[in-house]
Amino acid sequence: MDCVFCRISQDKTPAKKIYQDNDIIAFHDINPQAPVHVLIISRRHLTNLLDVNSQDESLIGRMLVVATQVAKKLNVSETGFRIVINTNKDAGQSIDHLHIHLLGGRKMQWPPG
Ligand code: 5GP
Ligand code: ZN
Repeated sequence: MDCVFCRISQDKTPAKKIYQDNDIIAFHDINPQAPVHVLIISRRHLTNLLDVNSQDESLIGRMLVVATQVAKKLNVSETGFRIVINTNKDAGQSIDHLHIHLLGGRKMQWPPG
């Protein structure tokens, strides 16, 4: 399977990485929708939240902790940030490798579009 986020995880496609460990990486979105727009992914390919089972609970939890650490590192934790996980067509999921969006650095709208 040719998956761009798997390729980034394997260093076969470049990305501006801001965090990495054995299981998780975080990198800047190529088409940022806010001054801070970072994607947090697991190295293991999961298609989206529907592909997650109970054995993945700690992985998903750790991805959220990484997102929060990145928010602090990029100085948007005090001003605020938004976490988004688009799942399937209606939500606009365009890359079929589970990813958490971290958005911050500007005032967000609610409800989201
Ligand atoms: P989705 O629409 O699936 O929720 O989000 C996919 C995100 O991945 C989009 O915000 C898009 O800009 C980003 N993206 C797509 N291809 C690449 C890439 O090759 N590198 C990086 N850094 N981001 C990408
Ligand atoms: Zn993948």
